[in-house]
Amino acid sequence: RDQRDPILSLEKINVSFDGFRALTDLSLQIGVGELRCIIGPNGAGKTTLMDVITGKTRPQSGSVTYDQRTDLTRLEPMAIAQAGIGRKFQKPTVFEALTVFENLEIAQKADKSVWTSLRARLSGEQHDRIDEMLTLLRLAAERHRPAGLLSHGQKQFLEIGMLLVQEPHLLLLDEPAAGMTDAETEYTAELFRSLAGKHSLMVVEHDMGFVETIADHVTVLHQGQVLAEGSLQQVQANEQVIEVYLGR
Ligand code: ADP
Repeated sequence: RDQRDPILSLEKINVSFDGFRALTDLSLQIGVGELRCIIGPNGAGKTTLMDVITGKTRPQSGSVTYDQRTDLTRLEPMAIAQAGIGRKFQKPTVFEALTVFENLEIAQKADKSVWTSLRARLSGEQHDRIDEMLTLLRLAAERHRPAGLLSHGQKQFLEIGMLLVQEPHLLLLDEPAAGMTDAETEYTAELFRSLAGKHSLMVVEHDMGFVETIADHVTVLHQGQVLAEGSLQQVQANEQVIEVYLGR
């Protein structure tokens, strides 16, 4: 597939909550293999946008097209996830009592039939993939530790891994570097850059330093609309963006 083809295309999305317009005629495209950052002040509509893509919130009007053919607004959240869209919320969610390895193993088999997963477990055929993932996440030394004993940042990495073993095409990540140490933030940036190309990523982020290190393309949301789009440098030079951020 052409890298410029859209993996996701939102057309004129409208969402209101009791008359309050959270998203207004919002149109947005994410290219295949792109790493896109979504920024914007609190209440801009970033979470609502993610909720619309994953089917958690139904827009009153507009369309969300995945991979140029699937209308996501007609699908249930489960079907959207199965179609290859993975989402990570801000707070890490891992099975604390299970080991790091088991967390990845469960995620990998999550939507497979019982028979397929039992057979795969017996043959150990998918364990190579988990071993690779442990190395990629810098968690190889922690594989047999209960996930509850990991640091906050390590839990974030583990959860990213739990998404990746499901081989998603599009990853939606909400402030992935929140609460991470500087070194962990740096490695997250490196990891995301290495994932882009094979995966498409949409990252909601407040930390401009982090945005600067990862994204080729930034979308600024404000009051439920796209205020500006372009490189971080371009959007930071935009008069309207400066007004919104500095409140002038
Ligand atoms: P962001 O993630 O950019 O901070 P949100 O998408 O969470 O913004 O919210 C956009 C606006 O919609 C906010 O003003 C918020 O109060 C409102 N909103 C979001 N979800 C709901 C809801 N379920 N009911 C009512 N208002 C909501």
